[in-house]
Amino acid sequence: MTSSAEQPIGFLDLPRQQKVIADNLRVRLDRVMEHCRFVMGPEVQELEERLAAYVGAAACVGVSSGTDAIQVVLMAEGIGPGDAVFLPAFTYTATAEVPLVLGATPVFVDVDPHTFQIDPASLRQRIAHVRAQGRLRPRAIIGVDLFGQPAPWPELRAIATAEEMFLMADCAQSFGASLSGRRLGREATATTLSFFPSKPLGAYGDAGAILTDDPERAELYRSLRSHGEGKTRYEVLRTGMNARLDTIQAAVLLAKMDVLDLDLARRRDIARVYDAGVAERVIPPARVPDSESAWAIYSVLTRGPEDRAALQQQMQARNVASAIYYPRPLHLQPAYQPHHDGVSLLVSEDLSNRILALPLHPQLARWDVARVVAAVCGHD
Ligand SMILES: *Cc1c(COP(=O)(O)O)cnc(C)c1O
Repeated sequence: MTSSAEQPIGFLDLPRQQKVIADNLRVRLDRVMEHCRFVMGPEVQELEERLAAYVGAAACVGVSSGTDAIQVVLMAEGIGPGDAVFLPAFTYTATAEVPLVLGATPVFVDVDPHTFQIDPASLRQRIAHVRAQGRLRPRAIIGVDLFGQPAPWPELRAIATAEEMFLMADCAQSFGASLSGRRLGREATATTLSFFPSKPLGAYGDAGAILTDDPERAELYRSLRSHGEGKTRYEVLRTGMNARLDTIQAAVLLAKMDVLDLDLARRRDIARVYDAGVAERVIPPARVPDSESAWAIYSVLTRGPEDRAALQQQMQARNVASAIYYPRPLHLQPAYQPHHDGVSLLVSEDLSNRILALPLHPQLARWDVARVVAAVCGHD
């Protein structure tokens, strides 16, 4: 074994990425140090315009995190006690946390066994169940673009329209992905983004944004992210939050936007190599038809918990990281189980026992990718 083969292969390589953008980043950060407008400085608006233009949305509102983005959007709709918010059981905790913080009730929906995205058939069943019980008002659907791929947006829109419910997209993992040749960001009334450092477009701290084509909602989001302010800072129109995006994070994200398309292309290349390379040992992730993934996370399926543990051990012995997204579906989490109606969501439960993510980020060199494939297949 060569010494490079001993180097651990992790889930992220932020130092290597920083070298790529270092000069551009330094110029942008120096400019912030000069004007010292650390809150709502000019970089925030520049970033908002750039993100909106990237997806063709009418407006973008920068906020402090992906979680706060969801909260601002749901607050704008007045969602609260007595309201049911439908969301996949197989997603990151933030999606379910926000409805509860606002006093609403998350209703967990099962996912597709192949693409891992929210299952429209399960959604229809869950809405019918809540209507039949008559205890909660079905108010909103949160479609999550999981792991970099799009949720089934045409079906979700049809359901939201028929049921007269608000539809939002939690696109925290999938900025840069596209469906039917169109970049994600305009599939629902509002789309939330996260720039947590490990996402495909990552800041150097917490940051997020909201995309919308509705100018009135965009104004409401701007007010809500800044204490519900009106035309002037000391006019308070509504109860809001402090959910502003830091100028420094906006400057970092502007530098990262310059390399986003290159990063996405590299992620797609690596995913193609994995697809062909690991199929003899595991089931590669199924593609959502007519889409391009942002490849935030590349998750394969093993045969079961023992098989997955064995594979993780085999990879670890070769110094290759792996991770489980998500080891427990949300309806079985201690915090959320008391709010769940007890229905089994079999696909989410099965996936949590079998799924395993391989390292996939733009800084992986060709020989790193080959090492990951060899580690999965147990080759030397
Ligand atoms: C990361 C993530 C969030 C939360 O974003 P933060 O910026 O960490 O608050 C929400 N939903 C999903 C699906 C995520 O992956």
